[in-house]
Amino acid sequence: MKVLIADDNAMSRLTLRSQLRKWGYEVVESVDGDAAWAILSMPDSPRLAILDWMMPGLDGIELCRRVRAQGQEPYLYVILLTGREGRDDVVAGLDAGADDYVTKPFDAQELRVRLRAGERICALQEELVSARESLRYEATHDHLTGAWNRAAILDVLERERTRAARANTPLCVAMVDFDHFKRVNDVYGHLAGDAVLRDGVARISASLRTRDFVGRYGGEEFLVVMPGCDGESAMNACERVRAAVANEPISLGELRIRATVSIGAAAWAGTHDSSELVDRADAALYRAKHAGRDRVEVAPDTAADRASVVELVAANR
Ligand code: GH3
Ligand code: MG
Ligand code: MG
Repeated sequence: MKVLIADDNAMSRLTLRSQLRKWGYEVVESVDGDAAWAILSMPDSPRLAILDWMMPGLDGIELCRRVRAQGQEPYLYVILLTGREGRDDVVAGLDAGADDYVTKPFDAQELRVRLRAGERICALQEELVSARESLRYEATHDHLTGAWNRAAILDVLERERTRAARANTPLCVAMVDFDHFKRVNDVYGHLAGDAVLRDGVARISASLRTRDFVGRYGGEEFLVVMPGCDGESAMNACERVRAAVANEPISLGELRIRATVSIGAAAWAGTHDSSELVDRADAALYRAKHAGRDRVEVAPDTAADRASVVELVAANR
């Protein structure tokens, strides 16, 4: 484990360095508070820091305050090292955000156990962060395919629509639906159907740009949000998605399962809200299904089209 020592006194750094190395720590040193701040601002910086109170530039207390104000993650465990012993100093140090306090000249064994306590806190904090991250992932992703779930993709759409409105940039959505998927289940079984969805979504994601979002909208229906895409580039992207699924059967052990998708895309014209946009993509998808499946349709943005969308969507529900 890496430990940062920030101390302007060379003798003090030498003593600390040799002790820490003896205990198996990797030591990173700085001769003042500003250099320490620069080190702590770098990626993969130490998680434990021993800071001298009195240093040129930023002192230990000020450094602590900055670290806490920034609220950095992973957590930095700070031990303040100082010659001062007054009770007020201890209070000031802890109040500035230090986790612990050791007075100079330090007792080696005491410093060692305090560092161990710091390591335990860092490990606990890491566990908490990773538990929080996996909860967040679970809450926003579909278990089967790893795509965003319905609530999350709708949030993404709303966020991207707001962003597009602010930046005056285009935005497209596409509704992607697996064709005759009931048959896939009927012929090959539900587990094979699951595998087709997993593989199909992996192909869909791989054929899109990294800035696009794929979410599971319903059973075998997926919503793609494409920021920065106008109608024409969305058409090209959807054609790539369609081909990625259709061109090569999905292998499942000995089985080679042919799957296709129909896609309806709609460009955001700056006026309608997210649900209108989804409805227009849905209506285009409906047309793609009726025109024979395994194809892409883009919703035209005309008043007549909008009226027909309302009708189609009503008929479909
Ligand atoms: P269309 O081309 O008109 O879309 O026909 P379809 O059979 O795909 O459409 P329909 O909506 O009638 O049926 C969808 C099927 O998808 C029925 C449902 O059991 C299946 N399905 C939905 N979610 C899953 C899933 O998670 N796993 C599997 N294996 N099947 C699923
Ligand atoms: Mg279907
Ligand atoms: Mg469907």
